Amino acid sequence: MTFHATVLTLYPEMFPGPLGISLAGRARDEGKWALDTVQIRDFAIDKHRTVDDTPAGGGAGMVLRVDVLAKAIDHARTLNPAAPILAMTPRGKPLTQARVRELAAGPGVIVLCGRFEGFDERIFEGRGVEEVSVGDIVLSGGEPAAIMLLDACIRLLPGVMGAPSSGTEESFENGLLEYPHYTRPTEWEGRTIPEVLRSGDHAKIAAWRKSQSEIDTRLRRPDLWERHSDARDQPASGARQKKKD
Ligand code: SAH
Repeated sequence: MTFHATVLTLYPEMFPGPLGISLAGRARDEGKWALDTVQIRDFAIDKHRTVDDTPAGGGAGMVLRVDVLAKAIDHARTLNPAAPILAMTPRGKPLTQARVRELAAGPGVIVLCGRFEGFDERIFEGRGVEEVSVGDIVLSGGEPAAIMLLDACIRLLPGVMGAPSSGTEESFENGLLEYPHYTRPTEWEGRTIPEVLRSGDHAKIAAWRKSQSEIDTRLRRPDLWERHSDARDQPASGARQKKKD
């Protein structure tokens, strides 16, 4: 099955961009995923091909018009009938590896890229659009966010990554950051590689990696660590619920 991406944008020339190169580019050449772009401006209603208007209630910037967006989405639906519709917005739910995995296992995605101040809010309910953020930062447009989302999905598609295990040991896959990596030279500017990694003792190496992964997650990402510990303390049966107050 081919993962089908349809991107709605005012800048279709930004695609495939980085997704045309390396792993994703090769996968596309091999038919493992397919890309359409839809120029939102083609669905403007007036002779000036306007896609935006001033914000209701006043204030700075311009807002993408709901009627134009709806026509563009309805067209995208005919190209990509089964895929969920996602809008890139800092107001959305932060993207996670778990959501990326779900999306990669599905038929594809329709991705809406914002510009200016963003979208008229009514589009989300009106067309069943999921709002997605790629982090607590503000980009100038949704295109780089869409590229991030697609890149994360594409590398998980069957046959895209070389070693299948390199996908499942990655950061976030088990709720933790990955352990640190080293390679030759063994000594560089007086810095060495941790002794255990040169021991050849696979059990010891695995134990070291697990503990590094836990230490780094606790120190760097207390938010992830808390969720990880909560999940570990709550057996699937729910028999020993951890009390929260
Ligand atoms: N006024 C908006 C920001 C608009 S930025 C706000 O303050 O919430 C313009 C466009 O860039 C957005 O419509 C969105 O498509 C994209 N964008 C910016 N930051 C993003 C982020 N963190 N995640 C996903 N998309 C983002």
